Amino acid sequence: MTIAPNSIEARDIAYQMHPNVNLRTYEKSGGLVIESGEGIYVTDNSGKRYIEGLAGLWSVAVGFGEKRLSEVAKAQMDKLPYYHTFAYKTHGPSIELSEMLISIAPVPMSKVHFTSSGSEANDLAAKMVWYRSNALGKPDKKKIIGRIYGYHGVTIAAGSITGLPRNHQSFDLPLDRMVHTSCPSYVHFGKDGESEADFTKRMLGDLEDLIQREGPDTIAAFWGEPVMGAGGVLVPPVGYWEGVQEILRKHDILLVVDEVICGFGRTGKMFACQTYDIKPDVLVLSKQISSSYLPLSAILMNDAFYQPIADESERIGVFGHGFTASGHPVATAVGLENLKIIQERDLVGNAAALEEKFLGRLNELAQHPVAHSSRGVGLLGALEIKPFADGKPGDAAAAVAAALQEEGVICRAVMEAVCFCPPLIITAEQIDEMFDALGHALDTVA
Ligand code: PLP
Repeated sequence: MTIAPNSIEARDIAYQMHPNVNLRTYEKSGGLVIESGEGIYVTDNSGKRYIEGLAGLWSVAVGFGEKRLSEVAKAQMDKLPYYHTFAYKTHGPSIELSEMLISIAPVPMSKVHFTSSGSEANDLAAKMVWYRSNALGKPDKKKIIGRIYGYHGVTIAAGSITGLPRNHQSFDLPLDRMVHTSCPSYVHFGKDGESEADFTKRMLGDLEDLIQREGPDTIAAFWGEPVMGAGGVLVPPVGYWEGVQEILRKHDILLVVDEVICGFGRTGKMFACQTYDIKPDVLVLSKQISSSYLPLSAILMNDAFYQPIADESERIGVFGHGFTASGHPVATAVGLENLKIIQERDLVGNAAALEEKFLGRLNELAQHPVAHSSRGVGLLGALEIKPFADGKPGDAAAAVAAALQEEGVICRAVMEAVCFCPPLIITAEQIDEMFDALGHALDTVA
């Protein structure tokens, strides 16, 4: 792309430092300038329209341009644009959203605490795990087990639990007390001739070995996404979550489930904890909680988790954590309206009803000579691309994603896969439109 002097692209390069790019490459290439969005589509500054096949960043459940959300935001802005939840103050929107979240939680939960991003929520959950261990008089029970290729954000604790090298390198992460167990992706790490059930047994064996090596009494919590998202839509093998929970119970280790991507219908149930029968002590939520119209995240905790923390705050005199924007009234009002839309339009039912079509089309495309295999659940899926014989890792998937963007669909290339996570409002016809374009993109790359 040629970048005209003083164009919006040139000004972007001149003044903005972007996340998650090769900064030197960005200085030359610039980025795609998106100007508007409607339904599952976004439009760039040249007027070209794209299907947002990743719902932004796995986020925009109700689609773009949802007037109910902009109207609720305006009404809340006019009434009370800002207030906080510190120092014995509170407000209606944060209370109403807390109540709603507790009512739909996949397991009985006691309290909600708001933050503004998935990273902050995971960071806070880690701090609360440590605070709780101190409260229980177990100061040595502090280690956290994450997983290789797990993603929980980029702040210091969350980034340390994340198991992706690109988020650790040169940042001096991970923290010593974060350890990582194997990535349970059968398609990537299953050995030749190993059945899926045997693979699961090996993954559980790795977890048990890690716990024994570190010392069960030193480990406070295990962190996991039900389906690893940013690691490349890595679905768990059969029996995995059942086995993990059994091991954690045996060693008195807390389970923190990160549903920042999976929550609010993505897997065809309101929560992936229901899809995979997972019973978390702490549940981390963001993204589809507000369709990312405004930054919002939350952690839900059960009573056994909450009570020692409340006792400790009484002893110390304060629970010394919180942000200026914790429970922000406009963000929580938008979050509540967004969840009402998800419920009223049965977008969870839509994801469940379209799962077969969505995964079926991906599976058909997996037969293309350029593709290796497909995987997914609900409206979350990935197509694994065969690496180029003479390319660098990830080149082939990046080439498919670029060709697909030309075809008018935005997706996300992660390692050797292209990932799809469309808005939950998508229709069967639009799934065809998206994957017909993917077929053409595969032909281009072949
Ligand atoms: N947890 C998961 C599972 C995520 O996918 C993400 C972001 O993609 C995060 C946490 C971090 O969220 P944020 O980017 O809002 O900090």
